[in-house]
Amino acid sequence: MDPCKLTISQLRTAYKAGELTPKDAVQSLAAAIEAKDGDLGGYLSHDLDSALAEAETADPSLPLGGVPIAIKDLINVKGQPCSCASKILAGKYTSPYDATVITRLREAGAIPFGRTNMDEFAMGSSNENSGIQPAKNPWDPTRIPGGSSGGSALVVAADTAIAALGSDTGGSIRQPASHCGCVGLKPTYGRVSRYGLVAFASSLDQIGPITKTVKDSALLLRAIAGHDRFDSTSVNQEVPNYLSGLTGDVKGLKIGLPKEYFAEGLDAGVRQAVEKAIAQLEAAGAETVEISLPHTEYALAVYYIIAPAEASANLARFDGVRYGHRAENPTDLLDHYRRSREEGFGDEVKRRIILGTYVLSSGYHDAYYVQAQKVRTRIREDFTEAFKKVDVIASPVCPTPAFKIGDRSDDPLQMYLADIYTLAANLSGVCGISVPCGLVNTEGTPLPVGLQLLGKAFGEGDILRAAHAYEQAVNWRDLIY
Ligand code: GLN
Repeated sequence: MDPCKLTISQLRTAYKAGELTPKDAVQSLAAAIEAKDGDLGGYLSHDLDSALAEAETADPSLPLGGVPIAIKDLINVKGQPCSCASKILAGKYTSPYDATVITRLREAGAIPFGRTNMDEFAMGSSNENSGIQPAKNPWDPTRIPGGSSGGSALVVAADTAIAALGSDTGGSIRQPASHCGCVGLKPTYGRVSRYGLVAFASSLDQIGPITKTVKDSALLLRAIAGHDRFDSTSVNQEVPNYLSGLTGDVKGLKIGLPKEYFAEGLDAGVRQAVEKAIAQLEAAGAETVEISLPHTEYALAVYYIIAPAEASANLARFDGVRYGHRAENPTDLLDHYRRSREEGFGDEVKRRIILGTYVLSSGYHDAYYVQAQKVRTRIREDFTEAFKKVDVIASPVCPTPAFKIGDRSDDPLQMYLADIYTLAANLSGVCGISVPCGLVNTEGTPLPVGLQLLGKAFGEGDILRAAHAYEQAVNWRDLIY
């Protein structure tokens, strides 16, 4: 039995049956990384010795006992490097503490193993902005794995990880999960603590699981969710047992289909796959209703004001004084700041800092930032209204399957459009999941695409239930469009 190919639940069953040990799993993953990851670029680093030591003492009776979990390289794990795939931190920063999600994973018995590649500071949709190394899609290595959690998605898809954690600010869990054929869940804002997550845009960021199955997603979410006194935006609300809701039954579930999400610009194959998936849910007893999210057209513009504004403030801490890259022989303090940041940050990060500084600057603050916040409220109200009528909202995750590496790198606007269907969930704080719904034949290559299911705030149980029922009803790898 190859442990790398197993899901979290299968691995736990194998442990309990005495067929495998946590040490076997860690060793097999390390061998798989050695064999495959050089070409795919999913990992930035991994610490085999510490994982083996943890495997030695793992307690398989715990919910995630002895299960290795890959971690996006912007979540702090004590004693491990945390580079955010940026030259400003790479080789210059080791985490002095565990993020709350890591503490919770450890309490559940999991072994954080491996740091996954990403777009620098989570800014991007393709992993092409990694300041360290390119990342490739295992289905077609000439294509992007998606981003920014591209490494986390590709290692799960390539069976060089059992499951992974990513972060989602505008789509960064759901979009790469869709492109790689995994399940990616962005929890409700406040469901999972952000303590120890390197901040990109604090009012949008959430940590969530990228897994091979919906059941694994439920397992991981249950382990990491819940109130944390170290994150004042985490909400004190009981964490349900998401697993018990996975009944395979969607009878009576009301699914909203937002007409704005099935409009122009949607690839024909993606549309077909998503519509077929929705029909499948209907056949299983769900009811569909057309709905409208009228402020959808503003989501992209609003996101690209608010996210850079928050990023420009959050990234001010990388000044070459407290930690990170430091320019040599500065002539004075200003020269020190300027050159440390100039040398350390990549182009997209600089673009966001400049944009953010601009929209916050005196004279423009009201016209851009304040205006964007007002429109954000409208977008949030769209969802509040919609969820009065329906339990979940179904849509594509991304307008197209994974594109070729290099295809959009000199056109930021084209790149930003990759998140058109995912951004609004972050702006409104609701939860969303991407579940594979088939393969779209693209220039002769079958490429996975995802169905997005959005749920109301703290409605993770609903989207997990619907995604699970769909997953059980079909074999998505056989559905080719
Ligand atoms: N692609 C979007 C961006 O570049 C979202 C990234 C994310 O969710 N971290 O900002």
